Amino acid sequence: MKSCNDPASDTITIETASPEQTEQLGYRLGKLLQPGDLLLLSGTLGAGKTCLTRGLAQGWGAQQQPTSPTFTLINEYDRPAVGLDERFYHVDCYRLSGSEDALTTGIQDLFGQQGVLVIEWPERIEKLIPEDYMWIEIEQGDEDARRFTVYACGERARKLLGSIHD
Ligand code: ADP
Ligand code: MG
Repeated sequence: MKSCNDPASDTITIETASPEQTEQLGYRLGKLLQPGDLLLLSGTLGAGKTCLTRGLAQGWGAQQQPTSPTFTLINEYDRPAVGLDERFYHVDCYRLSGSEDALTTGIQDLFGQQGVLVIEWPERIEKLIPEDYMWIEIEQGDEDARRFTVYACGERARKLLGSIHD
């Protein structure tokens, strides 16, 4: 599925040199997230998906510190000061064998909910992914270097990407 089929999709590339910088990047983006936003994080084990998510959740205002949901599949965070129905879902599909398997987990119930949804290993549930999403491809360089290529796939994602520059 790599990024999206839309040839007009907007893209930006950002490099970080440490886990702290990656968290900061997540923090900046997390502050911009609106209910219903969908972020798909693609990259090998150790690329920095969970590290970025820690920043995303903190920037969004989560009270809890995200941990890797590899064994729990779905982690849920809230920010009570803002509103009871505001949620941040962090999903890790690494252990799923595919979309069929995913259907037994209830992940699809999270799409279209009034929450922010961040998914690691989205390739595993490709068929379930709805139209509008931001795809973040993480590549490892030498040692602590990481390159983040952000693709905005859809109207809503394009707006989000545009607001990163503001
Ligand atoms: P993933 O969720 O993609 O499997 P994690 O975020 O759990 O990866 O782990 C990333 C690992 O890479 C951590 O051990 C982190 O300290 C290390 N690391 C080194 N440099 C970076 C960087 N620039 N950004 C993010 N993580 C980095
Ligand atoms: Mg992870």
